[in-house]
Amino acid sequence: MTTITLASDYGTPCVQCGELLLSPEWSEFEDDEHVVNLWSCDKCGCQFETKAAVPPIGEAVIRAFFSSLLVA
Ligand SMILES: [Zn+2]
Repeated sequence: MTTITLASDYGTPCVQCGELLLSPEWSEFEDDEHVVNLWSCDKCGCQFETKAAVPPIGEAVIRAFFSSLLVA
């Protein structure tokens, strides 16, 4: 079994109260290699941004991901 782990979007703790936030409110590509996530905490209302590197997606990763979808 192949597990693909992406570099971001797996949750981050709130910078103010430590509540685990599971997904960003909003995301934007800063350039080809970085994405900026805007987080909003439901518990304390704090909003903050994080920047994450986007891993290059190679052919092997794409094949591993989509091979499970192929029936033929
Ligand atoms: Zn918070």
